[in-house]
Amino acid sequence: MGKGFTLEINPFVYMAKFKDDGTWQEIYSERPHKSKEEEDALSEQDREEWLEKRNSFPELPLVNYTTQYGFGCFEGLKAFPQKNGDLRIFRPDENGKRMETSMKGLMMPPFPVDKFIKAVKQVIKRNRDIGFVPAYDPDWEKDDYLSGHSIYIRPFTYTEPGIGLNLSLKPWVVVVSTPVGAYFAPGNNKAVTTDRVRATPGGTGWIKCDSNYVIPTLVKKMAMKEGYMEAIFLDAMERKYVEEGSSCNIFFLLKDDTLVTPNLEDTILPGITRKSVLQLARDKGLKTEERRITIEEVLSETKESFVSGTASGVTYIESITHNGKTAEFSGRKMGEFTNYFLKTLKGIHYGAVEDKYGWMTGVD
Ligand SMILES: *Cc1c(COP(=O)(O)O)cnc(C)c1O
Repeated sequence: MGKGFTLEINPFVYMAKFKDDGTWQEIYSERPHKSKEEEDALSEQDREEWLEKRNSFPELPLVNYTTQYGFGCFEGLKAFPQKNGDLRIFRPDENGKRMETSMKGLMMPPFPVDKFIKAVKQVIKRNRDIGFVPAYDPDWEKDDYLSGHSIYIRPFTYTEPGIGLNLSLKPWVVVVSTPVGAYFAPGNNKAVTTDRVRATPGGTGWIKCDSNYVIPTLVKKMAMKEGYMEAIFLDAMERKYVEEGSSCNIFFLLKDDTLVTPNLEDTILPGITRKSVLQLARDKGLKTEERRITIEEVLSETKESFVSGTASGVTYIESITHNGKTAEFSGRKMGEFTNYFLKTLKGIHYGAVEDKYGWMTGVD
């Protein structure tokens, strides 16, 4: 079972290639696999070699615009085991729409949303049918599914071979999946602002594209070295307005009970968790605002803060340090509303909370 993001790509992988006649040629490739018992019986070195083989795709071109220039985009979504044995996916239609938008933003032929949803469902289903599925565990109910396992699905584009700078006219869309074990937030939930820049006006910050993740990764690793969990990016022009975490959206519950998150300008990634949290907040009667918010307002007016994204869900932030000044929130613990969003979202994922918005989709 994968822990966090250990890569163990499930055997069935979807690949579609854009053809000259404007259609997508689709295949479901069943990659070599062993049973769990066979894998467990391998020596450490054999297991490493086996996983390397399992995780590589020699039929795809090595030298292309994706590997050379980071030209590509991706999605991330999850499927959750249900009490009755089913698997249900969280809002795949939203991911499909965002993938289409991203591909258009990269001037690629866009992948149709209906094909996206079907491919995601089929990948989960085919892997389930050969036993690659986490079993529902009633123990997860005890901690409101914080210890729950799931399947992470990663659709992404991959370009045709090429070494000169060029657009991708005949990309692949690949859909892989991998098990994810319990995600336990580390004991440290401190955040720090950075003066480096994730996205610029007129840039690609609004696209879930490969090239956006270099600076955030560098900055987050440096922040972690200094004892923080997360880095917070400010706007590129004035270094004054809060934009995002390293790869997640950010929220502030102000002392007057208004929930604020930065509005979607072209430097902000339109998160599906973000959109879902806003909906839950409105339904709970909280006043919500999508607007620019300065770091100064955040430091003086915030009582709870959290980041949101598919990988980590809703993760509280205990403090933010900016220019040597630190503001603490909710006594450095998870705040009441943050906890509500976390529990409600997880409850919807695993079928313990009524899915009144129809966010969950079956695979059959
Ligand atoms: C993927 C991503 C998010 C979160 O989006 P979700 O749809 O909630 O997973 C936020 N910010 C960035 C930069 C991202 O890449």
